Amino acid sequence: MSWFVRKEKGISTPTEMKREAPDGLWYQCPSCKKIMQTREHKLNAYTCEHCNYHEKIGSDAYFEVLFDQNIYIELDENLTSGNPLNFVDTKPYPDRVRATMLKTGLKDAVRTGFGKMNEVEIVIACMDFNFIGGSMGSVVGEKIARAIDHSIKHKVPFLMISRSGGARMMEAGFSLMQMAKTSAKLAMLSEAKIPYISLLTDPTTGGVTASYAMLGDFNISEPGALIGFAGPRVIRETIGKDLPKGFQSAEFVLEHGFLDFIVDRKDLKDKLTSLLNMLR
Ligand SMILES: [Zn+2]
Repeated sequence: MSWFVRKEKGISTPTEMKREAPDGLWYQCPSCKKIMQTREHKLNAYTCEHCNYHEKIGSDAYFEVLFDQNIYIELDENLTSGNPLNFVDTKPYPDRVRATMLKTGLKDAVRTGFGKMNEVEIVIACMDFNFIGGSMGSVVGEKIARAIDHSIKHKVPFLMISRSGGARMMEAGFSLMQMAKTSAKLAMLSEAKIPYISLLTDPTTGGVTASYAMLGDFNISEPGALIGFAGPRVIRETIGKDLPKGFQSAEFVLEHGFLDFIVDRKDLKDKLTSLLNMLR
């Protein structure tokens, strides 16, 4: 039985492939493939210490990065989606929502919280891409609208952290109405002269880009984030031309005037604080 005999000599496993340490102790950067300790990676605000790749993180991690001592009051945490259209794709929409809730421990694609950032009071709404692609349905729109209400009521600045594939197709027209609703609320925030900062993270596309993500008094982004409305393939086919290099990257979008600045996540908390202090 020749296949029981090891014919090749000198088979060696690269260090990073060896499974000696328990899972979760090490982090491998998906961009440069280098290894670092999970603890170090977390201390680095979930960015790679070698190539500065910004890991895609959710609301839990952003709240931890931004709120002092990770202390905040979560707003409307139990709001969940209905099924206004009785939508069925490969499975009924309520089943999909329930399965996603179990898998992610989240209730929908955005979480909103109220707390302090370097002693400055702030309301933060942060999207979770893990929840059906960070899609914007009625719950996302409603929670953002209520978070803005909270900002207006308590006269504290509002920070929106977007990461989304766009509208939630299972709610079709109801999703699109969230664009108008959130935009109207932001207009009220503006009338109340309360600052709104929009942070666009990787990726921010579709109806989210076309509404609240681009309506900030400051629109800012993380390095290398993909920002756009339609995907590059659709645009290429529509205009019948090749797209320029780096198209839809945060750097490209900044150069073309849609962003105010790009901020490294490690500096995010301090930069936001000094910006808000400047606006007071
Ligand atoms: Zn890296």
